[in-house]
Amino acid sequence: MEKELLREKSLQRAAELKSRIQDYLDVKDSITTGIEEKEAITKRQEKIKLYFKATEEEWNDWKWQIKNRIADAETLSEFITVPETEKELITQVGEMYRWGLSPYYLSLIDPKKGTCDPIYLQSIPTGAENVVKTADFDPMKESETNPADCVTRRYPDRLIIYVTNQCGMYCRHCQRRRNIGETDKPKSREELMNAFDYVRANPEIRDVLLTGGDSLTLGDDYIDWILTELRSIPHLEIIRMGSRMLVTIPQRVTENLCNIIKKHHPVFVNTHFNHPIEITEESKKACEMLANSGVQLGNQAVLLRKINDDKYVMKKMNHELLKIRVRPYYIFHAKAVAGTEHFRTTVDKGVEIIRSLRGYTSGLAIPTFIVNAPGGKGKTPMVPDYVACKGDGSITLRTWEGIEIPYSNEELDEEEAY
Ligand SMILES: *Cc1c(COP(=O)(O)O)cnc(C)c1O
Repeated sequence: MEKELLREKSLQRAAELKSRIQDYLDVKDSITTGIEEKEAITKRQEKIKLYFKATEEEWNDWKWQIKNRIADAETLSEFITVPETEKELITQVGEMYRWGLSPYYLSLIDPKKGTCDPIYLQSIPTGAENVVKTADFDPMKESETNPADCVTRRYPDRLIIYVTNQCGMYCRHCQRRRNIGETDKPKSREELMNAFDYVRANPEIRDVLLTGGDSLTLGDDYIDWILTELRSIPHLEIIRMGSRMLVTIPQRVTENLCNIIKKHHPVFVNTHFNHPIEITEESKKACEMLANSGVQLGNQAVLLRKINDDKYVMKKMNHELLKIRVRPYYIFHAKAVAGTEHFRTTVDKGVEIIRSLRGYTSGLAIPTFIVNAPGGKGKTPMVPDYVACKGDGSITLRTWEGIEIPYSNEELDEEEAY
């Protein structure tokens, strides 16, 4: 083909590609991040600081944020209009399932959105928690995959160690609400030693995940002790820390914490952003500090009805996460845990979200959508079907745009070749 013709063809294709993203460009600016809403959030923070008579220093201290978690309907209604009937429900449900959110996380709630706000829905109890289809609090049967204290082992080469039941905020969609209880209980050194001994005695374990609760609610010295103990196990290759503190109390990430983590690399931190509004100046700073300390950051979102079950919300969030150096890792289908079922949507919905991303945006912005098989049988990836059909020695590809193309599925017969 002549040069001009080729250029003409390329320009046509480029115009077609441009049209593929128009729907997103039309809505993108209406889905705002916490950075874009900085002015409104700062105003709310000033109001909250006044109420608590908090100094700047206290506000920026993660321990102050934990100590002053809001956990009663009266205090909450100082900042957000809560209807009387809702207040009663908050109190009644709160007696069954603990709730509490940091003053910082409270400042992300837009009072104008009220009970529809994505932060409100994640943190404040509602009557929906009373609606129980399943009475199961442990559908993953963690209690049956517990070969040592504080350990869940579901895979050949890696396991989870629970280091505490404490969190910066008690998510309404929590899959481990059975462990949350009413008081904060970090695991003792003795209990954790049992877990470390199990890892030490099983040389095939090369990857340990510290979770809870939230591993970053522990103090710096305790974290240093845990990481030092784990690093003394020769066959342990990588350590992962699970923490939502980067989202709910980003003040947790201090110079001192970074210096401790740096000593124990390779350390990966997986966090849990669910909505673009959670990406604020504060959470950005926390993620950047960890990234600058050599930590690889990943995000594990949960697909939540009316919060993020929307392809545009997910796309914007994943783009904004990459900008703060967090790689989208998983989107989890919400589990059938008693009291959280109102957050569940269909598996199809999650698959559609992944389909809307592949090809349309950077591979880096595409997490894997996971359904956890009941009974602790493991993470099961749910992917859109890109094989349109399969025949003898041939398959038909379905591309990201839905174009079907036959493709060879045969090995070269070497005898024939010579
Ligand atoms: C999720 C999970 C892991 C880690 O799985 P990856 O797919 O490697 O991230 C390990 N152990 C348990 C019990 C888990 O639930």
